[in-house]
Amino acid sequence: MVGRKNIFYASYRLGLPRLIHLYNQYRGYYPILNFHRVSPVYDPFTEPLAPDTFSTILRGLIKHYHIYPLRELNHISDPKACYITFDDATIDFYQYAWPILKQYHIPVTLFVPTHSVNEGEPIWNYKLFSLLLQTKSKSITLNEQLFRIDPANILSSSLRIISYFNENPLAKKAAMDDLLRQFSSLGSATVFRPMNWSQLKEVMEAGVEIGSHGHNHVWMETLNEKELMVEFVESKRYITANLGIDPQWFAFPMGAAGTDAIRIGKELYQRFFLANGTMNQKGKNIVLDRVNQIDHDFHETYHRINGVHGFVSSFKFK
Ligand SMILES: [Zn+2]
Repeated sequence: MVGRKNIFYASYRLGLPRLIHLYNQYRGYYPILNFHRVSPVYDPFTEPLAPDTFSTILRGLIKHYHIYPLRELNHISDPKACYITFDDATIDFYQYAWPILKQYHIPVTLFVPTHSVNEGEPIWNYKLFSLLLQTKSKSITLNEQLFRIDPANILSSSLRIISYFNENPLAKKAAMDDLLRQFSSLGSATVFRPMNWSQLKEVMEAGVEIGSHGHNHVWMETLNEKELMVEFVESKRYITANLGIDPQWFAFPMGAAGTDAIRIGKELYQRFFLANGTMNQKGKNIVLDRVNQIDHDFHETYHRINGVHGFVSSFKFK
């Protein structure tokens, strides 16, 4: 059997993704990449990139793209333009990603979930996952609904609970707080705590652009108007109060937007970022997509960015 890595490497050497990349350039498509975690500590929930892998991916990107800061979006006519963003402002950005980005002089935008940063607590969905990993319980009850916890598959157990919360996140916030109280004897979550405001200020002053990632990091597609305003206004207020800037970019948590959210948010932000994994066509669209799945290998990632990952994967076992 030919390994996955070799297939993508062979396709890269044959020039397939490069050819599609040139075609995408010709059509005026450009990528905005969406990274999450860079850490040597493995975690099945977020699958961080190892720092060495992250370095390799950046070196590959530099070879094929010109990476610009997001503030240049309106002005760039370079067909090789590419942009890099990170979500969640977790401590691994400060410890691992940022030093590597700095080493290669690569501009980056960091989207900050303000409640998590302000409380010094992980984002609720990471916290939930971490607690399920530690508990010995076989099930939990939320709003009289029973959720089984499968110790062999904590990931899918967490995702089931997370999608339950996503249906109506703020209304179920009380149940979430209750759940965290039930698990409080387990101690706090151990993975992926957020950066603090002074670390954010430090990276901002060193050139990192800061955007909002909402206040509560919730699924905004199902929020009502009042709840949407909390996410837009509170996150802006916290960023302004702590970092002294007025953020103009907003990345929807988990990529979930909805037309109401964009209509309301337009009063407060200039651009909105999704995470559906596709490229953008040049223009002045205020809603932009991001390539959110980054493979643990540059060649595979390069295929992913240019939309030929599925095609090459289909040859994997033939
Ligand atoms: Zn996020």
